[in-house]
Amino acid sequence: MPTRRKFLASSAAGLAALAASPSVKALSLPPLPVASKLLVISTWDTGLSANLGAWKVLSQGGRALDAVEAGVMVTEASQNCCVGLGGNPDREGIVTLDACIMDEQFNCGSVAALERIKHPISVARRVMERTPHVMLVGEGAQQFAVAQGFPLEPQKLSPDAEKAYREWLKTSQYKPVVNIENSGNRKTGPVGGANNHDTIAMLAQDAQGRLSGSCTTSGMGFKMRGRLGDSPLIGSGLFVDNAVGAAAATGQGEDVIRIAGAHTVVELMRQGMSPKVACKAAVERIAKIKGDKARDIQVCFIAVNAQGQHGAFALQKGFTYAVCDASNQQQLIQADYLLK
Ligand code: ASP
Repeated sequence: MPTRRKFLASSAAGLAALAASPSVKALSLPPLPVASKLLVISTWDTGLSANLGAWKVLSQGGRALDAVEAGVMVTEASQNCCVGLGGNPDREGIVTLDACIMDEQFNCGSVAALERIKHPISVARRVMERTPHVMLVGEGAQQFAVAQGFPLEPQKLSPDAEKAYREWLKTSQYKPVVNIENSGNRKTGPVGGANNHDTIAMLAQDAQGRLSGSCTTSGMGFKMRGRLGDSPLIGSGLFVDNAVGAAAATGQGEDVIRIAGAHTVVELMRQGMSPKVACKAAVERIAKIKGDKARDIQVCFIAVNAQGQHGAFALQKGFTYAVCDASNQQQLIQADYLLK
């Protein structure tokens, strides 16, 4: 069973502190109009502040789709983590962003290798709602974003990313570090390691029982130019089937893609597994494929079923996920893991 760390805070100041500091783990939430299925879960410690953005929407009777967009936008805009334009660049020194979103009716949208746009998740939603396509990449995605009124941000690394990139250039070795998110921001991370996972995935259920999900990332730091991971891929980084449940992934994207991770988790729930057991079965599949190399990577899944139960599982120790539910509490849960 996961170890649950529950903390309560009581004020708007608590909210602000939570958003600013990953060491503050929870807070009280606005009262609910409907105390039923409302739920939002998201990956890593940064999920705590993101969940608040989603909870504002859900607690006012809003739609899960709006909640998962608003939630991860908090993280995309944050200066304190690597999701979004503050993220680490590719090996050419350019930040490229991937995101996808999916609603309760199999509508989905995605952007990949998008440059100079602050909120890729919102562009992904526009792809879903305003084009006949599911996925736009690179220059075409940027052109679409600009045509939709998204401002082009300067082509510039954040000071932390600049520092991490300069450090990386000394060896130019691509070597992702397991669980680097939990070491805080790049200033406190291992020397030369920097933040190599830079993703938030979020799943929500609204008062009408509608499930939706979102996923947004700057991808693996110092990746090859043009590299895409699982995060913008519907079925790998994210999948939602309202009759069954929803799942999302974080970690080494290449290995999540190998088993179409999020879709696999949903299919396992369809066969009757609980969210946690389904996540575990998907992780075990990856571990089997990787064999001796499993210890070199991290992969993690979160899932919610149509009944509003949630769970998660990781390959290695250190994966956390944040949960807000109708009990009016915010929790950060240390996920169970395979390689003990
Ligand atoms: N899954 C992301 C990717 O492979 C990275 C992460 O989750 O940290 O791009």
